[in-house]
Amino acid sequence: MGMNRLAAAVVPLLVAGCASTAPAPEATSPVGKQLEFSEAAKWARYSAEHEAVYLQTYQLAAARLVELTRDLEPGTWAVSLDADETVIDNSLYQKEISLLGERYTPETWDTWVRRLEAPPLPGALEFLGLIHDRGGKIIIVTNRDEPYCDLTRDNFRRHGIPFDLMLCRVDGKSPKEPRWEAVRTGKASPELPPLEIVMWLGDNVNDFPGLDQELRHAPAEAFAAFGDRYFVFPNPMYGSWEDNPN
Ligand SMILES: [Mg+2]
Repeated sequence: MGMNRLAAAVVPLLVAGCASTAPAPEATSPVGKQLEFSEAAKWARYSAEHEAVYLQTYQLAAARLVELTRDLEPGTWAVSLDADETVIDNSLYQKEISLLGERYTPETWDTWVRRLEAPPLPGALEFLGLIHDRGGKIIIVTNRDEPYCDLTRDNFRRHGIPFDLMLCRVDGKSPKEPRWEAVRTGKASPELPPLEIVMWLGDNVNDFPGLDQELRHAPAEAFAAFGDRYFVFPNPMYGSWEDNPN
């Protein structure tokens, strides 16, 4: 963001802070967050770079998937994809709340999910089609909560987004490893056999096995799976990174 905009936003608050009993740091913080939020949503919705990075990442993942599955039997393997900001685009929700000066709340999210208006991201449909063409299964592992899972399936179907299984978060349990394990052992669905997961795609480090925000302190070797079996999309709007200390 330009410094002029930042200064314009902060200065009146600092002035107001002098006349009020509210501590200045608390008064400035939400405004700073709000501007960041809006800029991130604008980038996601209206930048050429956003289109390019999704197409680029899905194309690279496709090329790698062809290599990885060359000798695999059809029907024995799967790809794990996160939903939000990986396959489907919620930037309209992010734009709408940021224009209202709001942040995520369960209430506004509920309304958004029920609208079924999250379209596929650039390159997603082609990549998902390739998985099916090569005999793989599409497993969506999302931390949308279980009560929203049917609505999310409806959102996918409404936008023509294929998938074989969608696993949502149950009882607030965010780690995805138990759900991947259920896919591997064949316990995730009576309609699917045990499946080897060959690739993971996500916009959050937690969408990848064994990783969390601590990865940011690790040497480059710890990132070796990225571009190989892990493919990550940028999400400047929200994510587990928000809790990292500055
Ligand atoms: Mg996501």
